[in-house]
Amino acid sequence: MLINGNFSKDATVGEDRGLSSIATSTRPQYAPLQDTFGRTFDYVRIAITEKCNLRCTYCMPEEGVDFKNGEQILTADEILRVIDVLARMGVKKVRFTGGEPLVRKDIVKLVEGAVNTPGVKSVHMTTNGIIFPKYAKALREAGLTGLNISLDTVDSQKFFDITRRPGEDKVIESIKLALDLGFPRVKVNNVLMKGFNDGEFFDFTEMTKDQAVTVRFIEFMPFDAEQIWETGEHFLSADAMIKMLKERYPNIELDSGTRTEHHVFRVPGYAGKIAIIPAFTRSLCGNCSRIRMTADGRIRNCLYSDSEYSLMDILRAGASDEEIVDLFRKAFKEKAKDGFEAKKLSAMRESTIEFKGRTSMTQIGG
Ligand code: SF4
Repeated sequence: MLINGNFSKDATVGEDRGLSSIATSTRPQYAPLQDTFGRTFDYVRIAITEKCNLRCTYCMPEEGVDFKNGEQILTADEILRVIDVLARMGVKKVRFTGGEPLVRKDIVKLVEGAVNTPGVKSVHMTTNGIIFPKYAKALREAGLTGLNISLDTVDSQKFFDITRRPGEDKVIESIKLALDLGFPRVKVNNVLMKGFNDGEFFDFTEMTKDQAVTVRFIEFMPFDAEQIWETGEHFLSADAMIKMLKERYPNIELDSGTRTEHHVFRVPGYAGKIAIIPAFTRSLCGNCSRIRMTADGRIRNCLYSDSEYSLMDILRAGASDEEIVDLFRKAFKEKAKDGFEAKKLSAMRESTIEFKGRTSMTQIGG
């Protein structure tokens, strides 16, 4: 939304969908979503497709996975309705993920709808950046706040080895374009793997010298459709990454990040920041604030839990807002204290878990 030549979002939340006038008066507000450990969940990650235009080896095989599509995934109106209910349960932050969210044709409508939902403060997207230029301006005008652009290497051969497609130049271009268009938050997601791209660690930290980006180094996770995780060769821990940082930049300073970023640093005088994400070590569970929805409309109360709760079934059975609220409450009442316990419980419940077999991150949404 263009105000005085500058892009600004906050002032007009809710207006476009004509919701603001009924926002507070007729739309019941609900108690915040909490679990039995007293954590409050105000951040929803919504996978809007399982499809992707890349084939990353730490995510899915060349032939892909059994992608859900058409009737099997939530419509834009269903997603926006759920966002509206969640916003009335105190959810303030929405992230669209995938697969690759930009392969979904109604992505701008989804962003606009989320931005204009009363109570939503910021809308973000995680993208591989390959086709971002096609939507960049429209997403900025729609009010998208933050972009996490995935880039694990700047070496074209390595990029091809990991994604099975060319394109690192397009991704680098997209990072620059996002900064030029003035997106408030631009981040680079880098899955750092031993013996693969760890040699470029400092190429990526130096990206923060002149660019106001946050480079997020993410631990490798076991959602690769049984491809390379099992080798055990590539895992590099968050602690090892922090040690590398402090050895190279002895005067590095702690800095602030989002609730899901624990280890955030800034090299003195640098424009950007560096975050280390212990996604496998799971040392951030105590602060967990995340709700996950899969493209086929399932609630996941933890990345490592295979217990799922079908939103799609109740939505298509004509559920009321209260029934949607109740399903989220049920899902989070059963949330484990951390990702380790979630994994253990899933293994114990293996026989009773209805929706098995999400082996690839593209089926979960990260
Ligand atoms: S592993 Fe599960 S509990 Fe821990 S931060 Fe991730 S989603 Fe939350």
